[in-house]
Amino acid sequence: MIEPRPELSKLSDYVPGKSIDEIRERYGLDKVVKLASNENPLGASPKAIEAFHKIADSLHLYPRGDAPKLLDAIAQKFGVKTSQIIIGNGSDEIIDMVGKAFIRQGDNCIGITPTFSVYKFTTLSNGAEFVGVGEGENKTSLDELAKAINAKTRVVFICNPNNPTGTYYSENEIVDFLKKVPQNVLVFLDEAYAEFAVAEDFPHLASKLDQFPNLFINRTFSKIYGLAGLRIGYAVSSEATVKAMWKIKPPFDVNQAAQAAAIAGFADEEHVANTRAMNSEGIKVLTREFESLGFKVLPTQANFICVRIGERAKELVSYLESNGMIIRGLTSFGMPEHVRVTIGKPEENAFLLALVKKWKTEG
Ligand SMILES: *Cc1c(COP(=O)(O)O)cnc(C)c1O
Repeated sequence: MIEPRPELSKLSDYVPGKSIDEIRERYGLDKVVKLASNENPLGASPKAIEAFHKIADSLHLYPRGDAPKLLDAIAQKFGVKTSQIIIGNGSDEIIDMVGKAFIRQGDNCIGITPTFSVYKFTTLSNGAEFVGVGEGENKTSLDELAKAINAKTRVVFICNPNNPTGTYYSENEIVDFLKKVPQNVLVFLDEAYAEFAVAEDFPHLASKLDQFPNLFINRTFSKIYGLAGLRIGYAVSSEATVKAMWKIKPPFDVNQAAQAAAIAGFADEEHVANTRAMNSEGIKVLTREFESLGFKVLPTQANFICVRIGERAKELVSYLESNGMIIRGLTSFGMPEHVRVTIGKPEENAFLLALVKKWKTEG
């Protein structure tokens, strides 16, 4: 038998949110609601769905790997050149491409923790060491993060707002941090949830790419644009960084349906505004109700809340699943007493809250 590369022995399997089908079958349920993977409860924009349908007639054709229309739309929105944009089969693939293009054996990469697991996965699978700074529900200090950088450091990963805590760094905090980072270290700013942020000091850093060419801003169509199933993400950075990534990018990784739906969804400001409004209202309701039940809710700028349930967190997750409600336990993130709940539609949030109240009173 062929032996896998030795780096693989350090990797653990990715733990995704449970699927609706899985829970429906296991418990024989008709109604199952999933508030576990931060998907858009309103679905994709109707305009994106229409664009998706139109692609059916050209399924026999290869996609345009260079996605010129999509790149134009992104360039216009961020005020950058198209040569500063990379796209990928979900932003997960963009993280993977960063690994392939920049992370070498014996390097290290640093990240705030707890955070999204893919950064560590990519680091380890390229033979480098991952250094996590911070723990639990406390926001990691970017000063501490800067102090952890050494001669071996290649990439610093910052998820903003952070998954799974929902907390965020302001523009001043990120800019102060960037000033401390050597130019040969890539700062991977994962803004998967940026479109949900309402804080006035939330960063808008594309205009600072000239000043900080080592900044890398990652975005996705999976969250507010509701296209998680199509797999498409993008990032903006310096021309030199992006050029290296296009070299190792699989040529047809972003399919034509994803490109067409992304372009249409990107332009549908009404759908984005509706989603944001529903999200802000949902955060208020869920926060108020969880707090009134005695649970601590971390402040969030994303489309989810992180709630401290305590020792019985796992028990709550199972109880909810058996009643048709999927949320995310955070054991795999190193927060076994917390859960992450995606903000749903009002009736979905109400369904969740009714079950949590029942669980609590039944003791
Ligand atoms: C969901 C998520 C992504 C998006 O991944 P895709 O591959 O684009 O679906 C990226 N980063 C974080 C932190 C996420 O939570």
